[in-house]
Amino acid sequence: MQPWNGKLSHFTRESKYALDFDMPEGDTICAARGGIVIRTIDHFTENGGKELKDKANQVVVLHDDGTMAFYVHLLHRGVLVEAGDTIRKGQIIGLSGNTGYSTKPHLHFVVREAPDKSVPMYFKGYQGRILKKGRKVGY
Ligand SMILES: [Zn+2]
Repeated sequence: MQPWNGKLSHFTRESKYALDFDMPEGDTICAARGGIVIRTIDHFTENGGKELKDKANQVVVLHDDGTMAFYVHLLHRGVLVEAGDTIRKGQIIGLSGNTGYSTKPHLHFVVREAPDKSVPMYFKGYQGRILKKGRKVGY
């Protein structure tokens, strides 16, 4: 739905390399990489404009290279892991939703090397092709 450097909300240092994936509420979110869960929030219920920027449910996973993956806008009570859990790649960690600064259900996915610095992420099997808005990952 929104690529890197997206004009809507992917233009800050912390979100420049974020991707938004169109997902219905309640769809399963699988970990892109394994790691340790370092933060979970799932008590928020509302969605709306920028005033809800800090009110999105989320899971944050610390990878072994020190980067952190943020899975954001999850369903109310839609987090299925706990802080401290070790998770593996592909494990279901939560349910997608529409909480926080969000106009329709989607997953905001971003990898950061510091809390305020996003970094590019690449999908294995996608062979370096550019992920275009409106297209699906894969073949
Ligand atoms: Zn986003």
